[in-house]
Amino acid sequence: MEKLLAEIRNCKTCLPFLEHGVHPVLSAHPKSKIAIIGQAPGSIVHKTGIPWDDKSGERLRDWLGVDTSGFYNAELFALIPMGFCYPGKGKSGDLPPRGECAPQWHKLLFRSLNEIDLILLIGSYAQKYYLNDRAKNTLTETVQNFEAYLPKYLPLPHPSPRNNIWFKKNPWFNDDLIPVLREEIMRYQI
Ligand code: SF4
Repeated sequence: MEKLLAEIRNCKTCLPFLEHGVHPVLSAHPKSKIAIIGQAPGSIVHKTGIPWDDKSGERLRDWLGVDTSGFYNAELFALIPMGFCYPGKGKSGDLPPRGECAPQWHKLLFRSLNEIDLILLIGSYAQKYYLNDRAKNTLTETVQNFEAYLPKYLPLPHPSPRNNIWFKKNPWFNDDLIPVLREEIMRYQI
C-alpha cells in the first residue's frame, strides 16, 4: 500500500490539464473498513492536502456521526475521490474529476484494501462509475433507492453547501437515510 500511495503521489497523468498542478489527495490503509468515494478535492483541500478539510467535510462528518479523529483514522475510513487532484474551476463551479484517475488507480487501491465492506458513493460520478446500470436516471432517485445497494454500497449526495436547496427539497434524506448511515458507521466503532 505504501508503495502504491507513493506511486499515486508521483502521478503526472493529467498534468497538461490541471491549471493548478498535480496534487493527489487521498488516504487509505490496508485495514480500512469503509471506503468513501468522493468527487475531487476542492481549492481548500488542494492547498492543505487534507481530504475533506472544508465545509463539505464538516457536513459529511456530521452525517457519519464521527469527529475529526474518527474520520481521519485510516484504519476505519479510506478517503478515495474519483479524481485525486483538484480539477480547477469551470463556469458553474468546480470542474468534474479527471476521468483518467479512477480507471488508472481505483482497482489497484482496492486490491490492497482487503477489509473494506462498505463503500459510500458520494455524488453522481462515483455512483455512475460503481453502480453502472444499477444507478437510476437521477442522483435523487439513486439515493432514494439506497436500500437496494446495501450492504456493499450506500449512495449519498455531495455534502457541499452548493446542494443546500437539494437538502431542503428532499427532507427524507435526513429523516430516512441518515439514521441508516449512522447505524452502519456505528457498527465499526464498537
Ligand atoms: S487526477 Fe489522478 S490520474 Fe490525474 S494526475 Fe492526479 S493522481 Fe494522476
